[in-house]
Amino acid sequence: MDIDKIRSEFPILARKLYNRPLVYLDNTATSQTPDIVVNEIVRDYTTTKANVHRGVHTLSQEATDLQETARVRIKEWINARSTSEVIFTRGTTESLNLVASSFGGMMLNEGDELILTVMEHHANIVPWQLLRDRIGFSIKVVTINHRGELDLDAYRSMFNERTKLVSVCHASNVLGTINPVKAMIAEAHSHGVPVVIDGAQATPHFRIDVQDLDADFYAFSAHKMYGPTGVGVLYGKEKWLEKMPPYQGGGEMIESVSFEKTTFAELPYKFEAGTPDFIGISALSKAIDFLQRTGIENIAAHEHKLLEYTTRRMLDEIPDVRIFGEASDKCAIISFLVGNIHHYDMGMLLDKLGVAVRTGHHCAQPLMTHFGMEGVARASFAVYNTFEECDAFLDALKRVTAILQ
Ligand code: PMP
Repeated sequence: MDIDKIRSEFPILARKLYNRPLVYLDNTATSQTPDIVVNEIVRDYTTTKANVHRGVHTLSQEATDLQETARVRIKEWINARSTSEVIFTRGTTESLNLVASSFGGMMLNEGDELILTVMEHHANIVPWQLLRDRIGFSIKVVTINHRGELDLDAYRSMFNERTKLVSVCHASNVLGTINPVKAMIAEAHSHGVPVVIDGAQATPHFRIDVQDLDADFYAFSAHKMYGPTGVGVLYGKEKWLEKMPPYQGGGEMIESVSFEKTTFAELPYKFEAGTPDFIGISALSKAIDFLQRTGIENIAAHEHKLLEYTTRRMLDEIPDVRIFGEASDKCAIISFLVGNIHHYDMGMLLDKLGVAVRTGHHCAQPLMTHFGMEGVARASFAVYNTFEECDAFLDALKRVTAILQ
């Protein structure tokens, strides 16, 4: 892979921070966006902006075509059975709220049990809690070992006749751990229990085949996979989506409306109330073109080399460094603390040296509580990061450590 060429597709990477080249290591929060995606947004706003589905006029039909072509692209990319199973949302958060509210509301009753894990993002905790407070089921939590891997024996032993649903992240946004979701889904299915997968951290790094995984639902966000902000996807098996009540009501999701009774549109429109961000959706399909052209296996292999190089040098060269998450199967994410240095001070000073890392609880407070911490600093890598940037990060880390320790 020609990383320089790839970098040239991301103009933001040429930016300077405090007179230093920007070293962007906050890719887990959001990735940067290549020209092909930005150009699509500019082109669509410049030539094709019209509301989808409602119009007979040419622009409206073109806008509708853009959206529906993107739906086919995404269906093929994740290997869904049909475009009816691809629902556009505003992001993983909205996708998970949709599943919790609509599917969870249908499946869970008082006294039932839902299985989550301790490494979930708040987006895969809070929607379920809101529902629990209405319905009265209980939430069981799978814990992790010292390497940050799920305790699968504990997971298997949690199933009983009250278990109605499992929701788990494919990859952790803090530990980087890639969970064995295919096996976890098979286990749940052997008990007749459907599984929701939060794929926000998986889709930027590896190819998802929802049929091979046999996931009942799979949620992800465009902005973490080189796409635009404000767009996400919920994949759901048609057999469930058919049975589920709509999540939001409004235009586009109806067949007919009267004050006495409303009937709903067919899938997937039943779950897409209101004007969609069809331009963002079309731009997401360009992000998928980028992933495919670059080769997602090449991306993962490159990121993995950066991860191994940086992890090894941090452990060798930074005294008192602690890295959280040492799973054998791991995304390119390094969550860390050095001695007693506060993660916030660490992040602030790294920024002054041109290095963007994230600090705080990373929307995973239960995981922080598990480790007895309030927060950590996190460096995370994408395809356009280089070994020189890893060196710059390590040099900056040494300087910050020398100042603060
Ligand atoms: N789940 C995980 C694992 C995440 O990392 C994130 C984003 N940090 C989300 C869910 C929520 O994604 P979004 O903010 O794009 O809705």
